[in-house]
Amino acid sequence: MKASSSWLDEFPGRIAELEAAGLRRRRAVVRPLDGPWVQVDGQRLLAFCSNDYLGLAGHPVLAQAACAGASEFGVGAGASPLVSGHSTANAALEHDLAQFVGLPRALYFYAGYAANIGAVPALVGKGDAVFSDALNHACLIDGARLSRAAIHRYGHADLAALDAALTQSPARRKLVISDAVFSMDGDRADIPALLSLCERHDALLLLDDAHGFGVLGPQGRGSLAHFGLTGAGASRRVLYMATLGKAAGVAGAFIAGDEPLVEWLLQKARSYIFATAAPPLLAFALRAGLRLIEAEDHRREHLHSLVARLREGLAAALRGTHWTLAASSTPIQPLLIGRSDQALAAMEGLRTRGLWVPAIRPPTVPEGTARLRIALSAIHTRDDVDRLVQALAEVAAEMHKPKRTSPTETA
Ligand SMILES: *Cc1c(COP(=O)(O)O)cnc(C)c1O
Repeated sequence: MKASSSWLDEFPGRIAELEAAGLRRRRAVVRPLDGPWVQVDGQRLLAFCSNDYLGLAGHPVLAQAACAGASEFGVGAGASPLVSGHSTANAALEHDLAQFVGLPRALYFYAGYAANIGAVPALVGKGDAVFSDALNHACLIDGARLSRAAIHRYGHADLAALDAALTQSPARRKLVISDAVFSMDGDRADIPALLSLCERHDALLLLDDAHGFGVLGPQGRGSLAHFGLTGAGASRRVLYMATLGKAAGVAGAFIAGDEPLVEWLLQKARSYIFATAAPPLLAFALRAGLRLIEAEDHRREHLHSLVARLREGLAAALRGTHWTLAASSTPIQPLLIGRSDQALAAMEGLRTRGLWVPAIRPPTVPEGTARLRIALSAIHTRDDVDRLVQALAEVAAEMHKPKRTSPTETA
């Protein structure tokens, strides 16, 4: 008799299906070299893929602070923050973060993913409503699904559609969730307009500023500060979330806002309560990093000048091709290519020239909008950017060449 088949036997076939559909993801194994240079499979590459926008992830001051933290606190927190994991180090970090962004209180999570999937279900549930921008990050979407509130997805940045959905919703508790800087497009949400809709409809706004914190606003205080919506201008209708593994160079995330809302998250966010607190040594590194973010405007100035240089260079280099640079003023500079296989070919073309820019394809981005996601950092030099522009010009020219049909092919 044939052994009965188990569903566990299906995985190799399911992986093969991903492979056949061009959806199988690969993991590069990376060793850091100097600055933006990395070694991948023995090859030295100039990388434009990191979200370490200010170059703090490899900064010696942060590394030394982490070492000091490890010698004082060891390497692990040992327990959930609601048991014995809330160290004086993490408490000091929360205090500094709240001060830095100009909001009453902050809660530090071990990851941004955890912050969003914990916060949304803590705030709304069955019978309530979530309103979500179509291009929001996966963890906001997952948080909304976990909450079991009704989900209204509005077209990207379509505030008229959001207004209509808020008007029609009978829910008493309404939560609007949005990236502040959209992670695959680099464009920015109209935060004052979102906030005024929330005021009008008695809704709460949860903003994810993973890509704005450290980069935007005065002294890198983030997207809310950019619009003057912090300090005396703060609204109790906004919860401000930012991650600390990107521009801040370390790991984790925080949610800041009005005292009772943040206290509620502490009481109810399951990803906060049922997870071991982040290692205190990270809080040491983060506090050292915050001081650099605040004091060193030159990192942001250099970064923004690189963005301008890249955009100017590419505008000239890509004239006459159908590749277009997205309208973005942030260090996320997506180059829209269209088809997935073309985006992959462009990535490969850059790689043979010693450059690493990731191709982002559906389903991560909408169908027909496969792209190269160029991410700039303050550790790049002007020469690095020029090299990328030159290489992209070559790859684009190669890929836009009209194909000659050989007689054997037509026969
Ligand atoms: C990276 C990212 C997150 C997740 O943060 P982690 O700290 O990496 O878990 C959340 N939201 C956005 C928009 C992101 O880009």
